[in-house]
Amino acid sequence: MFYIVGTPIGNLKDLSLRATEVLKSVDLIACEDTRHTKILLDHYAIKTPTTSFFQHNRFQKADYILDLLKAGKNIALVSDAGTPGILDPGYNLINLAIKNNLEMTFLPGAAAFVNALVISGKPAHEFYFGGFLINRTRARKNQLEKLKKFSCTLIFYESCHRILASLEDIGMVFGEKEIVVARELTKKFEEILRGTPEFIIKMLKKNKPRGEFVIII
Ligand code: SAM
Repeated sequence: MFYIVGTPIGNLKDLSLRATEVLKSVDLIACEDTRHTKILLDHYAIKTPTTSFFQHNRFQKADYILDLLKAGKNIALVSDAGTPGILDPGYNLINLAIKNNLEMTFLPGAAAFVNALVISGKPAHEFYFGGFLINRTRARKNQLEKLKKFSCTLIFYESCHRILASLEDIGMVFGEKEIVVARELTKKFEEILRGTPEFIIKMLKKNKPRGEFVIII
């Protein structure tokens, strides 16, 4: 069985009981960064061997993992944080497993965009998840102009290095619209900022922005 296992997005206690049992019982855990996943596994005294599966080794590693699955081994796939396949190389492995008709199941865990959408209080019945915004300002503004035509809630991931620049562009395109920026969800320094892009930029500039961000428009 190929288990796709959702893990926490920061708070180690958010791993489900079923996920813990599966991670303990499988033959191998495929993860992005073995050192990163070791922190989670150590927390739950899980001794299962791990192997790295990331952007740059995904093709040769996928063959290795698929061969093990075909030979009848049980393998779990986790990502550094949250749900495998949501903006991480897990997507490729899941597709290859489908093409190879391998039996698979998904154990739900956290996904940062769902967490942020719920706590934003913005309409959640219809939304657009855009992943990471483009990192060049002119292209990003064009992207935002196109998305402005959508009438639903917009959700983006952002890093601490680009959050201010992205919010500047969001301010230029969306003006005074009240948005939400969720930082470090489920972690010690979780923070939910609500207001215009200009106001949130001012708040974030008080200290150098740190951590991981989700933007909700
Ligand atoms: N697989 C992950 C998921 O299920 O959400 C997403 C992986 S993506 C490579 C990493 C991005 O997710 C970060 O740059 C950030 O935008 C967002 N993210 C992950 N954890 C977060 C958290 N605890 N708080 C806010 N954003 C988070």
